[in-house]
Amino acid sequence: MSDRFLKPVKIDLAMRAGLTCSNPSCRVYTGGPDDNIGVAAHISAAAPGGPRYDASLSARERRSSSNGIWLCQTCAKLIDSKEFERRFPIGLLRLWKNIAERQARAYVGTRSPFIADLAPVTSVHARLIELSVTKNENELYEIISGQSYVYSTTSEARDEIAAHRTPETVLDWTAEILVDCWGDGEAELLGICGVLLSSFELWNPPTSVLDEVENLCVREIKERDHMLIGVVEPLAFALAAKGRPVPHRAFLTAIVAEEHWREAEHARSRRYYGSDSRKALAVSRHMRDPLRAGLLRANDVGRLMGLLTRPTPDLARPRARALLRGLLRESVLELQRAGEFDLVKEATSYLAGYDINLEKGEPDE
Ligand SMILES: [Zn+2]
Repeated sequence: MSDRFLKPVKIDLAMRAGLTCSNPSCRVYTGGPDDNIGVAAHISAAAPGGPRYDASLSARERRSSSNGIWLCQTCAKLIDSKEFERRFPIGLLRLWKNIAERQARAYVGTRSPFIADLAPVTSVHARLIELSVTKNENELYEIISGQSYVYSTTSEARDEIAAHRTPETVLDWTAEILVDCWGDGEAELLGICGVLLSSFELWNPPTSVLDEVENLCVREIKERDHMLIGVVEPLAFALAAKGRPVPHRAFLTAIVAEEHWREAEHARSRRYYGSDSRKALAVSRHMRDPLRAGLLRANDVGRLMGLLTRPTPDLARPRARALLRGLLRESVLELQRAGEFDLVKEATSYLAGYDINLEKGEPDE
């Protein structure tokens, strides 16, 4: 017997999330006049044998709104899939729900983000809409080559890809462009390609492409040319997620052990995100990303070292610093778990030079 949600419960859940998907790394709008992609998903399964099933709940509790979370179809499928079941424990889903509800509450009475977002669209940004009708790599090149390498551009493009509004092969074309243009000095274009490919769960390249991309990435890091850090970083990440950890390890080593790499990374990510506080927000979002596991969770270690040792006023408050330190501690722990003891030593001794102790807090607190 299955304890399904009744319609009033579904409506309640949708409203509580402000009609958006509650997954913090998704947050798409789920409803409109013609399309409805929202799902009232069970936190604890509706029937025995389902994900997170809790026999101690009564049928009434199981079909009440307290046991539901509003998600888009993609995320609902993700949390209920056998493959990922253990990545989405009850506590995590409750946290998502709380955050989504808090944000929905805060948005009531404010101007619609649709309107706020639409206003500043530039003609360059507007070209991204053509991603959905791109037919080959040449057209894709036309669209992305005029874009600037900033978060608003890449996140809009990634949203289009994640929502499956682009051709399935768009990431294959992206990889083709990346390989073709490597060495042409188009750092911005390559950076955009790298970030798009870091939507690794949607990228399924043949081995030969992975080989080629991996070689380029490793060579670049070996030659210590941090001019291409904007592409090397997301690309190494994407390759690691595809089971090719070598460039990622090399990148982490460069970023933890070498000042000029950290400087380059600090400068490029500040420009990319627009400010240190937005960068810090992105890092904390990354750490909650359920698709990141193992060393991928240490990816922002250099970024966090930069944020803590070169504080800007908006991140200088003790609470902000404590949060950043917590994130850095998590990243360093991942390095430790992966057996990267030299990197752990490098990072902690560097931080000690700034009186930053990950275990104990700072003298100014
Ligand atoms: Zn979603």
